[in-house]
Amino acid sequence: MDPETVMEAARAAASRAYAPYSNFHVGAAILTGGGTIHSGSNVENASYGLSICAERNAATTMASADPEDREIELVAVFSPNASPCFPCGACRQVLREFSCREVVVEDGRGLQRYPFDQILPNSFGPEDL
Ligand code: ZN
Repeated sequence: MDPETVMEAARAAASRAYAPYSNFHVGAAILTGGGTIHSGSNVENASYGLSICAERNAATTMASADPEDREIELVAVFSPNASPCFPCGACRQVLREFSCREVVVEDGRGLQRYPFDQILPNSFGPEDL
């Protein structure tokens, strides 16, 4: 599938963000190995600490949708507030859990693609246990 199609889902998710405190809207869309797209947006909380990122919302949606389709081909991340918008450290580790292969972000030149090993080098994962 075209990464632009996945990024389009991330843009749409960003428009649904719940970010009344930071006003920092983020959308993420995951393309699974089976070819399904799962998206998520950031959802903040009045306690601040319980806020959750778009990438982790997309990952948990994916993980609970189909146990047979939990490998992440790529994740696209978009924010109208930051260009490019990369996943935070916590989200990188969660994406790693599901064998994420590639991260796609957008900047003024267009889509930028990064192999996941470049995003989280020397990472710890399920096979290390
Ligand atoms: Zn995050």
